[in-house]
Amino acid sequence: MTKSNYNINDAGFYGEFGGAFIPEMLQKNVTELLDNYLKIMSDPEFKTELRTLLTDYAGRPSPLYYASRLSAQYQANIYLKREDLNHTGSHKINNALGQILLAERLGKKRIIAETGAGQHGVATATVCALKGLECVVYMGETDVKRQAPNVARMRMLGAKVVPVTSGNRTLKDATNEAIRDWIGHPEDTHYIIGSVVGPHPYPDLVARFQSVISEEMQEQLLSKTGRSYPDAVIACVGGGSNAAGAFYHFIDNPDVKLYGAEGAGKGIDTPETAATMAVGSSGILHGSKILLMQDKYGQITEPYSISAGLDYPGVGPLHSHLHATGRATYLSVTDEQALQAALQITRLEGIIPALESAHALAALNMIPLRKEMNVVVNLSGRGDKDMDTYTHYFGFDNEQN
Ligand SMILES: *Cc1c(COP(=O)(O)O)cnc(C)c1O
Repeated sequence: MTKSNYNINDAGFYGEFGGAFIPEMLQKNVTELLDNYLKIMSDPEFKTELRTLLTDYAGRPSPLYYASRLSAQYQANIYLKREDLNHTGSHKINNALGQILLAERLGKKRIIAETGAGQHGVATATVCALKGLECVVYMGETDVKRQAPNVARMRMLGAKVVPVTSGNRTLKDATNEAIRDWIGHPEDTHYIIGSVVGPHPYPDLVARFQSVISEEMQEQLLSKTGRSYPDAVIACVGGGSNAAGAFYHFIDNPDVKLYGAEGAGKGIDTPETAATMAVGSSGILHGSKILLMQDKYGQITEPYSISAGLDYPGVGPLHSHLHATGRATYLSVTDEQALQAALQITRLEGIIPALESAHALAALNMIPLRKEMNVVVNLSGRGDKDMDTYTHYFGFDNEQN
């Protein structure tokens, strides 16, 4: 399939975004990956092993669920792509499984990762346990505190969780620390990046592993609606991997509207936001040219979202390009709007979503809908890890609720 204007070019750019802006010391690691990833991923044996693990281990294909009460509420046909039902509770396992097989074939013995909400850390610790590889996960100290259940899961899985105390002590800082580790271990270590960010080829590599989401949607939509594409796809955007996976096979189809939902935090007119598309500008972060949140001196500003998975000051190069070209529309969803959307879907459908995914659901209030439209919301993860936040906000520890 040719992906014309929206595909990555040989230098690793989507339009003006992307590339590999890396220190000399990382050149060897990144080049090794670049020279091998497409070859390995197209190897039939690799494909078979990945397919088998996605099916028998992760539980794919994830269902495409017609949400009837939600549909009645919004007067459109709303389908939920149930990534929340995957093993480990989110879409992160798709990429982690792909990358662990890649690392194995590159002869790596040690795996490092960064994590925000802890979902990518759990997915990485899981695949390391599965393959018997050493695992070190860098996590901002703030996130270590607000995502305690995931920290415990990683440790039970045998991973070493390293709390990072620089900066805002969240995802950006954890990523810096992971990159530092990788520079120090160029031979034996593979860095499993958890989103469509980082130097080329990571954004492309991760998008390809997540593209299984829209690949499955095509078949599922065909059998449920008689057409292999929807009128619109909505996904939340942290770095942008679940959205990249949900958009992937529809990017070149102009009949499919693409919507990304960003974490606006307390609002885009406040400093407490993570809505990069709304308030960001172009710059270089974590090895690639992307849209990011920065002050007038080019210093990265600290992002804020109630949802740890959306608390990142940039968006990957593919989304930066989809935004710049107008191919996709990005919406700012506040903490409050996401929390209300989480309660709504829980009460209408009996599904407690991850706070990140609740941002995508809230976007249903912001886009034009019609009765005959088929809309897919990518439900990127389940809400177990967010129960403390929900309980605190809605007061479920009080009998009256
Ligand atoms: C990590 C995470 C996200 C955000 O990451 P993307 O790379 O933008 O997908 C969204 N939802 C859930 C459930 C997550 O765990």
